[in-house]
Amino acid sequence: MTSKKFGQNFLIDSTIAEKEINYCNITKDDVVLEVGPGKGILTKPLAERAHKVIAIEIDKKLVANLKKFLPKNVVLIHNDVLNVDFETIPKFNKIVSNLPYKISSPITFKFLQYDFNKAVLIYQREFAYRMIAKAGSKNYSRLSVGVYYKAMCEINETIPRTSFDPQPKVDSCIVSLSPRKNNPFFVLDEKFFFKLTRDLFNHRRKKIKNIIKKIFGFESREIPFMDERVEQLTPENIGKLSNTLLEMKFKKIL
Ligand code: SAM
Repeated sequence: MTSKKFGQNFLIDSTIAEKEINYCNITKDDVVLEVGPGKGILTKPLAERAHKVIAIEIDKKLVANLKKFLPKNVVLIHNDVLNVDFETIPKFNKIVSNLPYKISSPITFKFLQYDFNKAVLIYQREFAYRMIAKAGSKNYSRLSVGVYYKAMCEINETIPRTSFDPQPKVDSCIVSLSPRKNNPFFVLDEKFFFKLTRDLFNHRRKKIKNIIKKIFGFESREIPFMDERVEQLTPENIGKLSNTLLEMKFKKIL
């Protein structure tokens, strides 16, 4: 029995697991996080290539089964990954996972807060294209801005839906994420920037001036991009807007 609730579409083509591991250049120096080991199709070859694998699985039946055959260098954690504080588990430097699609967004933002070297992840195709979307395109979103600010993101290849059981309704993609050493633009306060990005994309077709007026009850010629629509602003533009608003807050203009 598979659980829809847990996004259980199991990979049935082991060559794809091999490809993910190769894209991530896993060696015996690496400690790898895997979210949702499932039946272990990725966990087993990962454990052969890596120093250690930390595998977090929410489904207790799968955990019980995995315990029977996984090697000693796999640390198996039974929990919801969204409730796991990454500071409380062994430190990992890489992430390789075939992600449950329902938590794609929160888990990606959670990864981006952590200090890792490289992640190779399978996402649903549409989500993968939102990750790399540019301003002005229909896929451009809060996710595109957050990913661009924190990491270099590349779609490596499309995986047909027939590679999974049960077969999902859509194809998937292998995506590589490499955190940037330096952010592509400067923001005064990341928390404020991410909160503003979220607020803006709740009204992606509206003009900036209308959203700012709604949030801060204020309009000023000092604020840039007032007549632009959210979906047109590049991540750099949003960074500039965020810095200006924060400076105005400091000066108690807002
Ligand atoms: N890695 C396996 C594979 O490639 O066949 C399974 C992938 S399946 C798409 C997603 C896996 O994540 C399932 O095993 C599911 O039980 C697990 N899962 C779903 N939500 C989770 C969560 N919040 N925390 C940890 N594991 C979760």
